[in-house]
Amino acid sequence: MRVLSSSPKQTSAALRRSLVRSLLVIFAAVMVIVTSMVLAALNRVGEHANRLDDDRSRETTIGALQTFRGHLGATLNDYAAWDDANRFIYDPEGMGWVISNFGEMTVNSNLFDAAVLLDANGRALMTYENGVPANWTTRSYFDTSFEALFKKVRDATPETTPEANAFIRTERGIAAIAIGLVRQKSGHVDHEAPARRYVVLLRHLRENDIRSMAGTYVVDGLRLVDVATKQSQDVEIRDANGQPVGALTWTSRLPGSASLAQVQPLVVGAIAMVAIYFILLFVSGSRLLRQIKAEEAAAVELSRIDALSGLSNRFGLFANLRQLVSRAEKDGDDVLLLYLDLDGFKEVNDAYGHGTGDNLIRGVSAGLSALIGKEATIARVGGDEFAIAMNTRSHAVIVPELCERILGFFGAPFAIGERVAVVGCSIGIAVSARGTVSGEELLRRADMAMYRSKEAGRGRWTAYAPDMDAAREERNQLEIDLKQAIENSEIGVVYQPVVDARYGRMVSVEALARWNRPGHGPVSPEIFIGVAEQTGMIDQLGLSVLRTACRAVRQWPDLRLAVNISPGQFRDPAFADHVAATFGDLGVDPDRITLEMTESYFIRNPARALAAIDSLKAIGVKIALDDFGSGFSSVGYLRQFGFDRMKIDQSLVATVAEGGSAVDLLQATVALARALDIPVTAEGVETEDQAKILRLSGCDELQGYFFGRPMPADAIGRMVMEQRDVRL
Ligand code: C2E
Ligand code: MG
Ligand code: MG
Repeated sequence: MRVLSSSPKQTSAALRRSLVRSLLVIFAAVMVIVTSMVLAALNRVGEHANRLDDDRSRETTIGALQTFRGHLGATLNDYAAWDDANRFIYDPEGMGWVISNFGEMTVNSNLFDAAVLLDANGRALMTYENGVPANWTTRSYFDTSFEALFKKVRDATPETTPEANAFIRTERGIAAIAIGLVRQKSGHVDHEAPARRYVVLLRHLRENDIRSMAGTYVVDGLRLVDVATKQSQDVEIRDANGQPVGALTWTSRLPGSASLAQVQPLVVGAIAMVAIYFILLFVSGSRLLRQIKAEEAAAVELSRIDALSGLSNRFGLFANLRQLVSRAEKDGDDVLLLYLDLDGFKEVNDAYGHGTGDNLIRGVSAGLSALIGKEATIARVGGDEFAIAMNTRSHAVIVPELCERILGFFGAPFAIGERVAVVGCSIGIAVSARGTVSGEELLRRADMAMYRSKEAGRGRWTAYAPDMDAAREERNQLEIDLKQAIENSEIGVVYQPVVDARYGRMVSVEALARWNRPGHGPVSPEIFIGVAEQTGMIDQLGLSVLRTACRAVRQWPDLRLAVNISPGQFRDPAFADHVAATFGDLGVDPDRITLEMTESYFIRNPARALAAIDSLKAIGVKIALDDFGSGFSSVGYLRQFGFDRMKIDQSLVATVAEGGSAVDLLQATVALARALDIPVTAEGVETEDQAKILRLSGCDELQGYFFGRPMPADAIGRMVMEQRDVRL
């Protein structure tokens, strides 16, 4: 025996876990990518904003330098194209004026800090710096670009302005320089080239100049740096030759970085919140999903449980069998199935009611569970049907021992409240060797084997054998043929004489059904009546026998008629009506008819039997208790149900010739019936001796081969005629 492991469940749980893990990893990767993309975008925006600001600073700085140089250029224009200057500078006596208006203007001037007057050859006629004469020469004081600038002014054509300005490196630093030809304000030049004079104005780019530039143009940290240390973004200051003489740099304000620093935490926070939201969504979603799954699984589990017994139901058994079969296939062991049907459960149910029946089922379920243990699956598959399934490698050893244990368990009566019920059990066994037989087929086989146990007398176990299928097949074919025979009215009726015990005269006939099955010959009523009862065909068959017999008995007005009735016919609530209608249709007096029924039905359904008998007696027919002495045989029934006659079974009759206690029993029984005023018929009388004893015992009517076998209607007709002749 084996306990089932739940490996499919574990596999699906592992799958689910790895799926969740993968989803989380993917989600984390997506979040990382999204976060870095957003941060990269923000960085780019920040850098762009920084660059834009630097570009603005750069352009502003360039503009400031141009303005610085432009101012000097404008000053130069004022000083060079000036009628007074034109007069005094070219006047040999005018040097005093020149010094006071040019040289001395260099002190504390916002316009220029050095002034030089040059002749056409570039020789200095006057050099002043910061208000005092200076002793440097243009060649020593300036870099080489001075020559180029001076040349440009000297070589200016009449169409171009004879002025130029630029930045230049001086001994003292970087300065804006402007050179202009001294001339009339109108621009007219009075002198030939060799006699011409030129004014040079200089303004150094001092620290305070740069500071005021920074303030005016809002460029933080603007300062002069050496060409060698300048950065790529710095603004170069170039001389007239295009050579860099210095550079202006500034402190980047980095507005983008500042904004980014402000925005970044908010963005990261927002992304984190989105991530948390999704994680919560995911967590609650998967929790919900798990809950739904669990509820679903619980519902499936519940649908597999039988509410009354708490065992598996048929659905659950099939599910378990499927697992057992596939396990057997894998492990090479066998699935053993026991199918149990309680014997006598219906009787308990009918006698004590459904409440007691339910308690009995609970008791049996609990008992079986305790008996079998947890290693096997136990199911309740029908009203009083149970199944036990397990995997085993030694069913040949287990089965007899297990079945005996179960039968032993049913051997003791069940105490249900104050009542005691005795039920037995019929068991069918089927085995699926190495899982080669499916669960459904296994159940079918065990069920069939269980029926064999029932047929063989209940309270036993039977293992399935393949020839049972053939028997079942044969039985199915019998059913089909019987159905056809009933529909085609091929069920015949024979009549057996019943004689008056004292004179031996035929007073009655018993109608007995006959079926000559095509291809098989006569089938015993013991067999086909049973089949008709089990398949529900008995209603139609019984009424057809009654109708045929009633039609026959019309020809024999001196005879009474006995017809057999099966318990199954009482299930039809309109049965009494059908019987009455038959009498009415055929014009038969119900008083002549006796319906025979066996006692089994009265034991099982006393209340319903009483109601059925009452309704039949209301029509006017008589009721006889058939086969008395073959079963439970209680004389009490005779009185309880108001029988009109008792028929002693042939098994009891057969024993009377032996004498002794059998005769005593028979005589006592007959005497009791007679005391109740119930006449007695003895059946199966085969000898004269039997007839004599039975007559002496008090039977008023006798039936048996000794007086006549069951025979066709015309034979009875002939006997009736003979009897009439004798009387005449
Ligand atoms: P039963 O009602 O007890 O009928 C008497 C049976 O005993 C008949 O068997 C009859 O042939 C047989 N028998 C009569 N005298 C003797 C004798 O001296 N010796 C021996 N050995 N047997 C004798 P049969 O016809 O085989 O019927 C068997 C049973 O089938 C009947 O037993 C009755 O219970 C049932 N049956 C027959 N026809 C019908 C029917 O139309 N409806 C119903 N519901 N049951 C029927
Ligand atoms: Mg009978
Ligand atoms: Mg009988």
